[in-house]
Amino acid sequence: MSGQNFWNTKAVERLDIPSIMLTDGPHGLRKQGGKADHLGLNKSLPATCYPTAATLANSWDKSLAYNVGLDIGMEARSEKVSVLLGPGLNIKRNPLCGRNFEYFSEDPYLTGELASEMVKGIQSNGISACPKHYAVNSQEHMRMTIDEIVDERSLREIYLTGFEKVVKESNPYTIMSSYNKVNGEYANENQHLANDILYDEWGFDGVIVTDWGGNNDRVAGLKAHNQLEMPSTNGITDKEIVDAIHAGTLDESVLDEAVDQLLSLINKVRLDDKEPLQVDHEVHHNKAVDAARQSMVLLKNENNILPLKAGTEVAVIGDFAKNPRYQGAGSSLINPYKLSNPLEHLHDSSLNIVGYAQGFKRMGGKSSKLLKEATSLAESAETVLLFIGLDESKEAEGVDREDLKLPQNQLDLVESLIKVNKNVVVVLAGGGALELPFADHVQGMLHTYLSGQGVGEAIVDLLLGKHNPSGKLSETFPIHYTDVPSSAYYPGEQATSEHKEGLFIGYRYFETANLAVRYPFGYGLSYTTFEYSNIEIDGLTVSFDLTNTGDLAGAEIAQLYMEKVDSSIFRSKKELKGFDKVYLEPGKTKRVSVALTKRDFSYYNPEVKDWEIENGDYKIQVGSSIQAIHLEETIEMVGVSPTVFLKNEYPHYASANVKDIPDSEFEKILGRKLPPTNWDRDKDLGMNDTIKQAQYKNWIGKMLYNSIMFVHVFLKKIGKPLTANNVYFVINMPFRQIDRFSGGKISRKRVETFLRWINR
Ligand code: BGC
Repeated sequence: MSGQNFWNTKAVERLDIPSIMLTDGPHGLRKQGGKADHLGLNKSLPATCYPTAATLANSWDKSLAYNVGLDIGMEARSEKVSVLLGPGLNIKRNPLCGRNFEYFSEDPYLTGELASEMVKGIQSNGISACPKHYAVNSQEHMRMTIDEIVDERSLREIYLTGFEKVVKESNPYTIMSSYNKVNGEYANENQHLANDILYDEWGFDGVIVTDWGGNNDRVAGLKAHNQLEMPSTNGITDKEIVDAIHAGTLDESVLDEAVDQLLSLINKVRLDDKEPLQVDHEVHHNKAVDAARQSMVLLKNENNILPLKAGTEVAVIGDFAKNPRYQGAGSSLINPYKLSNPLEHLHDSSLNIVGYAQGFKRMGGKSSKLLKEATSLAESAETVLLFIGLDESKEAEGVDREDLKLPQNQLDLVESLIKVNKNVVVVLAGGGALELPFADHVQGMLHTYLSGQGVGEAIVDLLLGKHNPSGKLSETFPIHYTDVPSSAYYPGEQATSEHKEGLFIGYRYFETANLAVRYPFGYGLSYTTFEYSNIEIDGLTVSFDLTNTGDLAGAEIAQLYMEKVDSSIFRSKKELKGFDKVYLEPGKTKRVSVALTKRDFSYYNPEVKDWEIENGDYKIQVGSSIQAIHLEETIEMVGVSPTVFLKNEYPHYASANVKDIPDSEFEKILGRKLPPTNWDRDKDLGMNDTIKQAQYKNWIGKMLYNSIMFVHVFLKKIGKPLTANNVYFVINMPFRQIDRFSGGKISRKRVETFLRWINR
């Protein structure tokens, strides 16, 4: 019931049960040949690095998601990996989450549609995908202990819908539980999440794998269907299972069932009896380039500055042109088979590159020399291509972002360049939303997100119009971070993280509260134009015509939103319920159909433990972003007159005034009193407390905490922010992980003794 080592299960040769290998994921294969770790510290075998999920989501392309899954699964199988740890499909509750670059969207429908396809693609290789992290892994800060407090309706409608879709539509053989608690219980021990919802309601029949080191109480986990604990604990926790059976606290049939499930997984995905697959890495590289082209988003194109014409005199400025940022840090870190470089591809293009200047220090800090050099280069050119973005330390597993800003030295550079050159085109890199204060002052802007190893070729193809941009944002770009609905509550600092904003995540908030944004959900430009016409509704199928009215071939992502007319319950003004990506030659028209289901009209009623449709009219809106609606029709549905979530009973939710929800209103929706959000500093520390809490104890605890913090700050100061992140990660670690991660080398007894010293 636990691993043999960091990445493999135990074999039982006597019974012909092979060991199988599980590795990351999610946007490429991270198979470590030598030393193992779960933070991307040690090198892995070269593999194709595809765009990360946040990037791929901007393609809104289901067949692309399938194909990326297919390729990664193929690479996994060729390396004898039976379970690929991905995709990651947590909902982007807040744009600061350090791992948002690994997740698809703020919208559960889009998340579920794309993740399902990816799972199907991965599993078509005869191996298992492992959707993660189930569930509500909304923040990295204190991720191993934080208690995510979320009401049942928001849980179902926002945080679980993507997982539900994946389970029902693509039948993953495994799922990874998350580290955090959900409403007081560790996700891995959460009977509601696992037994009631995942297995009983959705009919999941696979295996739940812990996140690495994510087991707390092994027996409680087993009772919540956690069949496999990873990585190895040297048998320490297997013994706990056996002891519980002897003590009569665990029914042996629970273990038997779990063993059956684990064995059927192993039988399904064992590779010792399957043909090895051959991977052509060059073919995969080209597919990675294509995936990147489909996923980048053209945010601005004033006076049609793009595509750039052959022969244009271009100054290339910015470190990211030479050293592209194309993936995030942590367990998803791929060792790319090769990496295409924007600057090199620009030099090889039909543009007249007049020079390159670094422009700024990548890891921050002033440099007047670099600024001057770049500004004088910009003066001499017709057009400036400015490559800016977030550096490697900003988006990482284990740490959340501090803000949504680009570093000050980059903002200074933008300001200086726009003074001397009117044609500045910004090429952004980073795995999510950013504050873009200069948006109104530059001519063009292409957001490349983290687009994998094909980044260089893809950028150049889009800038030159060899490929027409078609990506659209799968998340809202706020004007200021403080506009974000959960900004007042995020992250949960100590014991709990209160999801007081409830359903009102991302566009659900901005649309309902009618608050201006920098770029809305679903937004993205093209070099051609599209027209929408002739909407018709037949039963629950919505059809309309889409025409390419411009001069260039291109793809449009048509989106379908739904709005309940005169709703008596509080809800988001609009919700995404369908989309289609359509490629059209100039002048061509296609009839597009989107089939709705009854579930699309439903809200979750925890009192009856089911989905319900509210009686009445629903506006069906079709458009090119959530704010650009071109067609509208109404459908009348027969349903119930709701008795829950009535607007007059929840005034703050009803008006989307969710940044300021009183405890009483949140408690009402939660159905219970809120647990204390801060740690009790006077209580003795236990195994589930963290090194961070040791600072409130005696001098030993303080010394432990302060010395780790000292190393963290020191590493940051000397310009090693990535290592500093990893040190910080230790601060968030619960004491129980020390014996597990050291494989028992530091015994639990020793940890207990140490805790006694601290508590003295
Ligand atoms: C991450 C998982 C990953 C695992 C194995 C954990 O730290 O949360 O996403 O699959 O490590 O590397």
